[in-house]
Amino acid sequence: MARAELLYSELGVKNCKDLLHLFPFRYIDKTQFYKINSLQQNTAEVQIVGKITGLKTVEQKRGSRLVATFRDETGAIELVWFRGQKWLKDSLKINQPYVIYGKLNFYGGKFSMPHPEMELLKDYKSKIQSSMQPVYPSTEKLANKNVSNKVVRSYIEDLLSKIGYSIEESLPSYILQEHNLLGKRESLINIHFPKNQELLAKAQFRLKFEELFFIQMQLLRKKLIRKSKIKGFVFEKVGEQFNNFYTNYLPFELTNAQKRVLKEIRKDVASNAHMNRLLQGDVGSGKTIVALLAMLLAIDNGFQATIMAPTEILATQHYHAVTELLQEMNISVELLTGSVKTKKRREIHAALESGELNILIGTHALLEDKVKFKNLGIAIIDEQHRFGVEQRSKLWRKGGPSLTLPEGKGTEVRNRYETARPSVYKLMKELQKERKQKTTEAERVLWESLKTKKLDFKFRRQHIVDEFIVDFICISKGLIVEVDGKYHNTKEQQESDDLRTEILQELGFKVIRFKNEEVIGNIEQVINIISEELKEHTSENSLPSGGLGWALPPHILVMTATPIPRTLAMSVYGDLDISVIDELPPGRKEVKTVHRYDKNRLAVFKFLKDEIEKGRQVYVVYPLIQESEAMDYKDLMDGYESISREFPLPKYQISIVHGKMKPADKEYEMQRFVKGETQIMVATTVIEVGVNVPNASVMIIESAERFGLSQLHQLRGRVGRGAEQSYCILLSSFKLSADAKTRLKTMVDTSDGFKIAEVDLKLRGPGNLMGKQQSGVLNLKIADVVRDTPILFKARQTAIGVLQNDANLSKPENTVLQKTFAQIQRKTGFWSEIS
Ligand code: ADP
Ligand code: MG
Repeated sequence: MARAELLYSELGVKNCKDLLHLFPFRYIDKTQFYKINSLQQNTAEVQIVGKITGLKTVEQKRGSRLVATFRDETGAIELVWFRGQKWLKDSLKINQPYVIYGKLNFYGGKFSMPHPEMELLKDYKSKIQSSMQPVYPSTEKLANKNVSNKVVRSYIEDLLSKIGYSIEESLPSYILQEHNLLGKRESLINIHFPKNQELLAKAQFRLKFEELFFIQMQLLRKKLIRKSKIKGFVFEKVGEQFNNFYTNYLPFELTNAQKRVLKEIRKDVASNAHMNRLLQGDVGSGKTIVALLAMLLAIDNGFQATIMAPTEILATQHYHAVTELLQEMNISVELLTGSVKTKKRREIHAALESGELNILIGTHALLEDKVKFKNLGIAIIDEQHRFGVEQRSKLWRKGGPSLTLPEGKGTEVRNRYETARPSVYKLMKELQKERKQKTTEAERVLWESLKTKKLDFKFRRQHIVDEFIVDFICISKGLIVEVDGKYHNTKEQQESDDLRTEILQELGFKVIRFKNEEVIGNIEQVINIISEELKEHTSENSLPSGGLGWALPPHILVMTATPIPRTLAMSVYGDLDISVIDELPPGRKEVKTVHRYDKNRLAVFKFLKDEIEKGRQVYVVYPLIQESEAMDYKDLMDGYESISREFPLPKYQISIVHGKMKPADKEYEMQRFVKGETQIMVATTVIEVGVNVPNASVMIIESAERFGLSQLHQLRGRVGRGAEQSYCILLSSFKLSADAKTRLKTMVDTSDGFKIAEVDLKLRGPGNLMGKQQSGVLNLKIADVVRDTPILFKARQTAIGVLQNDANLSKPENTVLQKTFAQIQRKTGFWSEIS
């Protein structure tokens, strides 16, 4: 049916369920009557009882209009008609009570209502009134094809009357009770056809809660799985390099926040789970040193480490910072960017593969297939919002080369473990016999599913790997799945299972281990976990040739200087662990920020001269240059010229850096400024992230109204890095939009990155703030991450409670959750769209 197709292409509605979940975005509320003196300018549609006390025709340039004065006991508004005037004039009754309904206009201090719906009060009273009417989202196409609101409404009405009674509850009763939630069926009925405001509010609350709750469940489960099922390299010791650096070369004492974060990281990497941590810290909060210390931990445990930065300038800067900090130590560090020459590049590749190279710092160039680590233990990603999910997952696969069990490797590893933990090893061997002899119910169930679930990858059963017979293996992926039977319950037995896992991992396999009851009660879940593993890490063609198995993913630390409001972090990164450096190093002076209009430019230049006189350096920043935006380029060049005139050679030296320049030229100009050879840096936002020149103390931002808040905040972070008082001057034109005013005022009022992020979120909405990649999580049907914060907290808290109590959702009271959850996953693909 054409209409059905249209509903799908325009609104994404493809079945009854979607239709039921196509929520009205507003309601025509005819349950309320307004008094004229209580009307607000932003009230949309209102219903009023009153009388027409006067009627006149007003002549206009084009035609005429009929205007009525409409009064209640509190005031008057005008009713206006442009059409049907003659008929109206005859039929409208003066001084008789009417009920009118319509959209309000506010103009010249007065309210008016064009073409109101009208009904005499006595007629109105004699009918049963329909209450609130839903208004559904629509599109031009739909309207053109006569799929009007009325049509959609009738579809939903039909549907509800047909299947309303079979709508099943999706939340367990204890949760409904705890939060006093309306049932699912009642909620769906009332979201479409609310009996009154109160029921509507309850229906909305329930549906928002549910939506947020299941997102949180997904995120938290993902985290749980990561922590319990995905193994990571263990950095057992804090060793020589770390200690040597910490005691002898640390240039300053760490702030408490830095110490705390370091502890969090250490705890992660010492456990045998995989670390996936987001480190948030405002510009200048000192993330680099934390990253460095984390890398030293890796090196002390025999691993390599890497930092990936989004731009060449930033990567270079990290490289300089790290080499300087490590100059007295015997650690090799290299820089790999797009502009590194082939010969050098080859050397780096070789040193990386042989393990000679300890730390590699670079840009995306790191992700190329040619770049192979011997054993990458930790990857640090700076300024993560610039990297896509795809790139991040590529890093995951760089854990090390794949292993086609080299000769003698198995024996070597086994002997080592046998010597280290003889009794556990012995038990492991015994349990192995048992594995061979009995096929358990759980194994049978899992095998049935692995065979039939079309996982895209083939599994084999009871396969020999080294001296082990593993339950299931996907050879092309190096993924082993094992089910531990009922004899694996004592502490010793579990230890021996862990040992088995460790050995298999060391041989290059990925191991997931399930308990009997997990498989039997939750086969859907188990299959989902497996399919996710198959998806997540590597695609077949990325395995090096001849590869059987693969190494563990490196620990991941993502650093961002763009603070993310807590609510957003929860919804988008709810599955990551989050660390926050919420304290700046001591002695920082707050950057004084002012907003000036363009016409005050001369005064600003005078101020610049004074600062330069004192030996300071200055940034002047113009809006981003994009290939296509010739205008921006012109702005920048005009600006550069006028500054050159104002600050003439030879007294003043000026650097210029923009996106159209070759990396080498950029770097050259940057270095001149870094070295203090130039006093003024004219630039575009390419200097936004990370650049560190402590002697620069003034940041001028041209056309500041064209920048987003987070950009402004980043730019301002370039100054205030030294001991001197620093300044940020926001220049703008006189005419500003309301949002632009709010942005500039926020910058002047606060330097707290989190506060700025909150304002940004309110102005731009979550989708824009987080960028496309995460929009899947934020593509909410009814809840709103900004407005529904309290519900979000409740939902998350509830989800945590549920999982703490019953991680597998196997208790009877959670059956319904298990079911809903499985449905959601089937629909979205497990954890889809989340990194
Ligand atoms: P960001 O978090 O923006 O990456 P950086 O790591 O670049 O910050 O640090 C900013 C500056 O602060 C650097 O010059 C660094 O040496 C200095 N710094 C970092 N931590 C401390 C500390 N605990 N005490 C004093 N200075 C510090
Ligand atoms: Mg930084």
